[in-house]
Amino acid sequence: MTIGVLGLQGAVREHVRSLDRLGAPTRVVKSTVDLDGLSGLVLPGGESTAIALLGENGVFDRLRQLVAEGLPMFGTCAGMVLLARDVQGRALPHLGAIDIAVARNASGRQVHSFEATLRIDEIGDDVPAVFIRAPYITRVGAGARILARHDGVPVMAVGGRILVASFHPELTEDLRVHRYFVETICGLRREGERG
Ligand code: GLN
Repeated sequence: MTIGVLGLQGAVREHVRSLDRLGAPTRVVKSTVDLDGLSGLVLPGGESTAIALLGENGVFDRLRQLVAEGLPMFGTCAGMVLLARDVQGRALPHLGAIDIAVARNASGRQVHSFEATLRIDEIGDDVPAVFIRAPYITRVGAGARILARHDGVPVMAVGGRILVASFHPELTEDLRVHRYFVETICGLRREGERG
């Protein structure tokens, strides 16, 4: 089993580090060949317009196929924007993999980035979350389910095998969100590991 981390731009190393700490083998994905044989894929935060621009060289077309084939994916921040069905504001190529709408940069400018703790369904309480110019979820369709809110606004959702979060769990030491992706969404558990 190998979990890919889309490595076109953004917080790539941080996700690799969190997955490493969980003991999950990883591969940084820069081109379509890197997408073969993965058990799951993380789409990091960064700048969604930059990632979309770089992805339109063929990587996004392959990702659209893999979404249709049911490859589990986890998008954080800009990665969530790329996985959403509808992106409000400026048009940008995206994957439409989960039935939600998002508004980009909804939590304001970089200077307004903040940290919070969240209660996340199926994961637990007091999960630390770093928000950096975070997109917010503005609509959740019938095919998706809200897992967490911040100040009443949905910030984490799941739809089928697609998990999305407005925030950056990879910038904290808490591994519960990555563990949930690997074990529950990808359905992988290391041999001999329990609970
Ligand atoms: N708002 C940024 C975007 O849509 C995302 C910021 C982030 O990933 N930290 O590109």
